[in-house]
Amino acid sequence: MCHSGPRAGIHIDKDSFRSPAGGRTKGIGMTKIFIMYYKTGEEFKEVSGYDLEQGWYPRVTKILEIKAKPALYRFYGELSSFDEGEQIKEKSASEGTLIHEAAEQIFAGVSPIVDPSIQPSIDALNLFLERNNIRVDKEYIEKRVTHFGERYSGTLDALAMIDGKFGVLDIKTSQSIYRDYNLQTAAYMGALEKEFKNLQTRWILRVDQAKECVKCGASLRQKGGRDKVRAGFGKGDPRCEHEWSDMKGIVELKEFPYWQNDYKAFLAAKKLWEWENDYWLRQVGYL
Ligand SMILES: [Zn+2]
Repeated sequence: MCHSGPRAGIHIDKDSFRSPAGGRTKGIGMTKIFIMYYKTGEEFKEVSGYDLEQGWYPRVTKILEIKAKPALYRFYGELSSFDEGEQIKEKSASEGTLIHEAAEQIFAGVSPIVDPSIQPSIDALNLFLERNNIRVDKEYIEKRVTHFGERYSGTLDALAMIDGKFGVLDIKTSQSIYRDYNLQTAAYMGALEKEFKNLQTRWILRVDQAKECVKCGASLRQKGGRDKVRAGFGKGDPRCEHEWSDMKGIVELKEFPYWQNDYKAFLAAKKLWEWENDYWLRQVGYL
């Protein structure tokens, strides 16, 4: 018997693919795509959420897959095949994971063993932390947070105190800070606001590395085993015969204090995700 209902399709599992080493991949443009056919409710639950003592809760990053990511279509469109895209992203994701894990170890007060490939990023991060007043609550690194009322769960990177303000800190290894990140961090804020009355704000800490053209200022990223040149749009000259510097670490910290509208958008996205996964959510007794 062939039964209809469960949907086949492309499921983009951002920020949540666990590598064999148990690490976590991070960042847009390092997205893991599964062609996912759920066979059972248990499989759906495993892939889409966390089983907690209090019950099963869908994961923030899984919910946010419902939002289209147009940049991803462009990325695939520029390649010769879907598989090539998968390979690039997998490699890029493992590089992002290395940076992400080293950064969390530094926050936890541990000196990480740094893979030479990410040394520029980690040097830049250490320098940044020497120069800026950032304190991280060690008990809240890679911490599971759950909103029992709105029924979702997620894993935040850190809670931090920066320049006297207390908030959610999320680490990204992407080439820019994307607006989409605000949906994710707003979900964490919503889950934490009752527990932490002094929770004020949220930040994205971007840690990355690139070469820079000494002539025009264009940048060259080497992620996922390929060179990606960014020139034009106000930075660098596409007609320049570039001359590249050594690899330089990049650290960018950006605060996003106003989270209420993002939070409304997250809850709307969750509603749409529930609609899309209606069949399975009923199967597992969530709806
Ligand atoms: Zn140049």
